[in-house]
Amino acid sequence: DPPREMLGVGALVASYGAEPVLHGVDLQVQKGEVVALLGANGAGKSTLMRALSGLHRPVQGGIHLEGTELSQLAAELVVRRGLVLVPEGRQVFPELSVRENIRLGAFTQPDEREPRVEEMFHRFPRLRERQHQRAGLLSGGEQQMLAIARGLMSRPRILLLDEPSLGLAPKLIAELFAALDALREEGMTVLLVDQMASLALALADRAYVIEGGRIVAQGTAAEIAQDDALARTYLGVQ
Ligand code: ATP
Repeated sequence: DPPREMLGVGALVASYGAEPVLHGVDLQVQKGEVVALLGANGAGKSTLMRALSGLHRPVQGGIHLEGTELSQLAAELVVRRGLVLVPEGRQVFPELSVRENIRLGAFTQPDEREPRVEEMFHRFPRLRERQHQRAGLLSGGEQQMLAIARGLMSRPRILLLDEPSLGLAPKLIAELFAALDALREEGMTVLLVDQMASLALALADRAYVIEGGRIVAQGTAAEIAQDDALARTYLGVQ
């Protein structure tokens, strides 16, 4: 099949007050692709993820999800259209149980809630064992799995992941990337921001590099990984 565009971002400008932070970002994600977004602290990655999700209104530019324009929609409608963000810092509800946290992800399709919860427990067995515990008692890695499970509950067309490995021990990072690889195998479309650039590139089909709110490089994940200058900056290779 020819590649089919899932997400198309065109000339996206975003600012905080008068301060522009994204200066006309273009990027595409094809259906079934995993795309990594790399960049230093402050480059604008989270701002872009939040703008795509309807959490930060862009000043200019377009966001197309399978032909629908999202840039003026409220965050809840963006989720209903099928774009779901798993935010930086996970943001689970610590006082609610694991199960309750997962159930909250299904606000768009309440009738499908229970079978979907079962599906998530199948995918993340550790969450089943802990389903009645308060989410705040989970380890960081378990909370990240929970945040992803909550995001998957509404059957997204595309999943945006902002720094999922942040603060996780190496063993849990490996587990997390294995879970993401399983999603990829199932054909899920993913846009991923992660400081673990080498792992992100190993998972991704393509990558973009953002610097100072501009896309400065793009290519297949292999091309980006082999670019010496980029590797020194983002992969910690000397
Ligand atoms: P990090 O990896 O550190 O999260 P990032 O690439 O995600 O970095 P952003 O968080 O998008 O970068 O920030 C881009 C720029 O916008 C930075 O200069 C940051 O200081 C600024 N910024 C982010 N959030 C706000 C805000 N709420 N108000 C004002 N400026 C902000």
